[in-house]
Amino acid sequence: MSNEASFVPRWPTRISVCEVGPRDGLQNEKTMLSLEQKVELIDLISASGARIIEIGSFVNPKAVPQMADTDEVARRIRRVDGVEYRVLIFNLRGLERAEASGLKKAKLTVSASRTHSLKNAGKTPEEAVRSFSDCAEYAAAKGIVLSGAIPTSFGCAFEGRVSVEQVLSVVDSFIKIGIREISLSDSTGMATPRQVYDYSRMVLERQPEVIWNLHFHNTRGMGLANVTAGMLAGIDRFDGGFAGLGGCPFIPDASGNIASEDLIHMCNEMEIETDYELDKAISIARLVRQLVGHPTDSFILRAGKNSDLVRSQTEAAKN
Ligand code: ZN
Repeated sequence: MSNEASFVPRWPTRISVCEVGPRDGLQNEKTMLSLEQKVELIDLISASGARIIEIGSFVNPKAVPQMADTDEVARRIRRVDGVEYRVLIFNLRGLERAEASGLKKAKLTVSASRTHSLKNAGKTPEEAVRSFSDCAEYAAAKGIVLSGAIPTSFGCAFEGRVSVEQVLSVVDSFIKIGIREISLSDSTGMATPRQVYDYSRMVLERQPEVIWNLHFHNTRGMGLANVTAGMLAGIDRFDGGFAGLGGCPFIPDASGNIASEDLIHMCNEMEIETDYELDKAISIARLVRQLVGHPTDSFILRAGKNSDLVRSQTEAAKN
């Protein structure tokens, strides 16, 4: 923490918004989207400026049937140059499926919480870490880049607050096998802005060469506050989920990701650039809401943009 005293929090000029809706959002939906609908959504996201899209996961189809066709989705989407198409995996079998589908990026996940890890992956964090080295070897041989994600980086529904030491232990294991991009994920929606700021400073300070990403669920309404805390700590990559869908099937009462359109709207209003275009993100979210057939946790879909309000007030004043 030698440099911490001189660290001055400031707003970033630009952040990256990674769209995780096709995986994190759809995996928890009772309505199963068809292959064609998924492909259409991902193609729209590719055309919206988003540079990173999590298109699905390679997990046991019995556990998460919504993701069973990720192989076929990967084959059918229109790949746009410069866009990273990523899948979530838990083991070598998942990585082999990613390779067979022509994907170049896969996200390994291991929970910092023992109970969540057992429920989500059927392994303790230690067992999950042990299974990493074969994945790293395979990925290197096949030219696939691995990133790491740590769900329950801040809190676990079963274990309570997760200490930064538990998180750093998983971070170290990732780094040991050559992973240089890591996401701290608040799958349970328990993180607070102060905790996010502190953990973000801690990991940035200890591992400045790692590309850090933050992933928030808005379960207790702290999602966007947590984003701003992460921004001020120096993080510039954040996940969002279209229409605010989402949740982990193995976390009780899990709710959605922060909505991509809410996050992008906030950035636009704060003059922080994003590559993901707001109006396109809003029309994708509307389509998603229509496809799943129920209201979703998106503030912008409900209330519209700030600029819409100003326009409608101006028009009302004219009449
Ligand atoms: Zn999530």
